[in-house]
Amino acid sequence: MPGTLGAVSLDNAGAEKLSLHAVQGFQVEYTMDVQAVKLGGTVYVDISSMSRALRLLSKRDGGQLAIMYSDKGNKTVCRLIEGSNFVDFLPQNPGRPQRVVQLRSAPVLWKKSLWLRAVDAVRLFSLWMDREVVYDQQQGRIDAFLWSSQPDSKKSKVGIVRAEDRHISDGPAPRYKGPTTLNALEVSELANGVVIRIKATGSKSAASFIKPGKKSTASLTLQTAKGDPADFFRTFSQGLLKEIRAIPLGNGAVQIDISLNNEFYKVKSSEYQWDSATNTYVISIMSDIDVQAVYRAEKEKRIRQELARDLQKWKFDTIVLDAGHGGKDPGAVGKGGTREKDIVLRIVRYLGAVIKKEWPEIKVVYTRSDDRFIPLKQRGKIANRSDGKLFVSVHCNAAENRSAKGAEVYILGPHKNDAALRVAMLENAAIKQEEDYKNKYRGFSEEHTIMSSLAQNAFTLQSKDAARHVLEGMEKKTDINGRGVRQAGFMVLWTPSMPSLLVEAGYLSNSGEEKVLRQTNVQRNIASGIFNGLKRYRATYEKQQVASSAREGKEG
Ligand SMILES: [Zn+2]
Repeated sequence: MPGTLGAVSLDNAGAEKLSLHAVQGFQVEYTMDVQAVKLGGTVYVDISSMSRALRLLSKRDGGQLAIMYSDKGNKTVCRLIEGSNFVDFLPQNPGRPQRVVQLRSAPVLWKKSLWLRAVDAVRLFSLWMDREVVYDQQQGRIDAFLWSSQPDSKKSKVGIVRAEDRHISDGPAPRYKGPTTLNALEVSELANGVVIRIKATGSKSAASFIKPGKKSTASLTLQTAKGDPADFFRTFSQGLLKEIRAIPLGNGAVQIDISLNNEFYKVKSSEYQWDSATNTYVISIMSDIDVQAVYRAEKEKRIRQELARDLQKWKFDTIVLDAGHGGKDPGAVGKGGTREKDIVLRIVRYLGAVIKKEWPEIKVVYTRSDDRFIPLKQRGKIANRSDGKLFVSVHCNAAENRSAKGAEVYILGPHKNDAALRVAMLENAAIKQEEDYKNKYRGFSEEHTIMSSLAQNAFTLQSKDAARHVLEGMEKKTDINGRGVRQAGFMVLWTPSMPSLLVEAGYLSNSGEEKVLRQTNVQRNIASGIFNGLKRYRATYEKQQVASSAREGKEG
């Protein structure tokens, strides 16, 4: 079933109302609609439309979308490709680092637009533009805080003390009678200040408020009041407030002392008011906080949470096994009639069985478990959809030189030599078996290969590690000589968003090796050799995971 597996279809999606609210500076804001659809509870946005709302230019070419962004003279192009979880940030200025990020889902081409899950779209723009972009599904809105990161723009909407927080009533004052008694203390801490409320009964006391000015204390003295000092003693471990304390003065007055933390906070203004409606003495102290710092802290917190989730995501729990070729594509065929597609399917089945037995907790996903044709691109999509943590593709080799023999393990990368290129071309030739391959693989050019190897860079080290262990494992288990770990631009290794390797178990073009590869015990040994390699790889992989999560913990 070529072309139907893996891809999300938005044909049944319904229209979804979504607006983007952008804050570009203090009181410089605008709102624009973004094209969105909803499918089974998941909201997808048209990335071009979202780019427009962010005032960015974008250009689509087939399944590729390029978005242009310029920040303080640094221009970058963000490139997305239909079906690929990897996004490229390509700097247009020389010497700037290139970045590749991985999304949790891949863009979908639908109605001549690229669509991405809204949660992934906001993450993409946040990472790329280094600005806060947040999606609120309930409100149907995206908030983009695009203000400059330069220190001169400090104003924001973060945690402003609003009038209603101060609860000051303007209405006529009720008559309060009797002695003034202070009953309760209420403190609201906000990002840009604090509001202290002292609730009282009895008549209104005359009061004098001493502003903190440059000192670290403010005080409110109520001329005729009583109250239990214990009810008004409060200390604070962080933020603008350090301590609040009520001190009974000898003459029947009470002084409320407020100590402030002015090492990190500068007091901008302060005021005292009596709220007649509730008989409450209200002190507000506004601090000149660094909104950027608050925003950074919030962002860091969220990134840490995301990283923690990502680590969880990278838990080694799923292996994707890919038996090369199949169906109408036999792969290499030996002189004795041995077909690559049959040998590799058996090896992969044995490998799957060993994994199931030794690692019952690990899910094994097969791109094919019988003799059927699966397009190359589809194999990567199956892997991505199953959230695999390692992709192992198994093949047998063939060469015009009939004496060539031995096993090789490949990882994706630029072809290091002609031989590697030849093997890659041989395996890539499978796409010609696919209907309409010219259209489907349009854009799979040299550029594409570079792009894909860049994307795979994120996993190159892990892939190399896995490949090395697998080759060692096979050498120990079989008489087939290991010819080394190589790099080549295999198409099947392009789409998986995970460490990936391709095993060439031996040469069917070599009549001696063809005979060996036909033997069931050899096929089993190859499988168990690969498994031993995976075992070593898994051990190092999980050690690294622990190390990186420990590092994460320290930084947090
Ligand atoms: Zn092959």
